[in-house]
Amino acid sequence: MENCFYCEKGEKLNSLMIKITELSNSIVYLNRNQKHKGRSIVTFKGHKKEWFDLTPEENKGFFADTALVAKALNNVFKPGKINYATFGDTVPHTHIHVVPKYEGGFQWGKFFDDSEKEFLTDDQYKDLVSKIAAEIEKLK
Ligand SMILES: [Zn+2]
Repeated sequence: MENCFYCEKGEKLNSLMIKITELSNSIVYLNRNQKHKGRSIVTFKGHKKEWFDLTPEENKGFFADTALVAKALNNVFKPGKINYATFGDTVPHTHIHVVPKYEGGFQWGKFFDDSEKEFLTDDQYKDLVSKIAAEIEKLK
């Protein structure tokens, strides 16, 4: 699909996120903005705009993948709650932001948004990616 960075898998995607792993219905990324520690994105494998464009099987698989990733993030980061955000106005490719929230921390009790950023070093990203990937493998 043209003009969709999730499908293009090029520089734009790479500037925003780092691949963690691939599951049966999704590709999982760590968001480079780690203002919410552990923030990740679960993207549907094919280009589908709306959840209702997915077949019932795909929907089931995609949500199972998302739950698996959320559980892995929960185990690794021990947040107070995980939030799930799905928008896609400007990038209409089915995906879910899986966002650990920490009690008393940034945006706790409020809507998740991207208004503040915190970037890490390459080594720190590598460390998070390998921890999350290992936990996902364990739970699979
Ligand atoms: Zn796409």
